[in-house]
Amino acid sequence: MANDGAHGNFYSGVGLDRADLLRRDAAWVAARQADPNSRLVLVWRNRNLIVRADTVAPVWVRVAEASVLLGDRSAPVFLGRDGETAVFALDLSDLEEADAQSLTGEHGLFEDLRAVGPLLSRRDGAILAYARGLVYWHQRHRYCGVCGSPTESIQAGHVRRCGNGACGAEHFPRTDPAVIMLVHDEERCVLGRQKAWPAGMHSTLAGFVEPGETLEEAVAREVYEEVGLEVTRVTYQSSQPWPFPSSIMLGFRAACRHGPLRLSTDEIDAAAWYSRQQVRESPEDESFRLPRRDSIARRLIVDWLAEG
Ligand SMILES: [Zn+2]
Repeated sequence: MANDGAHGNFYSGVGLDRADLLRRDAAWVAARQADPNSRLVLVWRNRNLIVRADTVAPVWVRVAEASVLLGDRSAPVFLGRDGETAVFALDLSDLEEADAQSLTGEHGLFEDLRAVGPLLSRRDGAILAYARGLVYWHQRHRYCGVCGSPTESIQAGHVRRCGNGACGAEHFPRTDPAVIMLVHDEERCVLGRQKAWPAGMHSTLAGFVEPGETLEEAVAREVYEEVGLEVTRVTYQSSQPWPFPSSIMLGFRAACRHGPLRLSTDEIDAAAWYSRQQVRESPEDESFRLPRRDSIARRLIVDWLAEG
């Protein structure tokens, strides 16, 4: 198995200057939106426009070529600057698929980033994940959570403000923290699976952080709930944007004393202790396979394997 832990996690490393101060300046944003050299990343119903040729890559559309796309559609969302070039995400979800496809010309298909992520350059994957996550947030925050009035996008798409002047609440893009942890003792780790997962896939445990708990407490709670083990030490490893649809995965190791597992049948279909040798010899088939190559779960497992 290739040690793919030497790089940053997939979907990290956007590498754009987010220009937080400039994007508050409506005149500056309008000039970038009108600049023929500015580029658009297209998103249609949580899918990104991908072209498969010698390599797999996003389709970048220059504003000069995009008048038909922009039309009277709501303003694109500013992602950042790549050198002097502004990069925006444009949501085409109001169109039927065939119309969205035909407007973009002959190039590419709208694909689920999860299907192509590992085939993209790391940076392209990160930018598409960022675009998808931010567009999803806009779709889900069209109405004010305080008073129910329609909201409008301001600050180049990094704030939505309630249109009801008496309310005026501002809503900011959100990302939901989830903890994901490799449970281990001295020799073995715990991998489990959920019924909905692809056949044979075994992975680390994970769960959402709840209000009123620290990340370490969330790790300990989830481990106890899912497999009945008491965690003795929690160590942070790394994190990963995971906009499927709106999470950031916070990766940990959770040391436990070895003991029998007591599975939560609600959440876990199967789980067991595995030695490093068993994991290394994973047949990668429908009887047993490791999680997807673009996941932090895979990274947590691979890094642990490399130490023993
Ligand atoms: Zn409101």
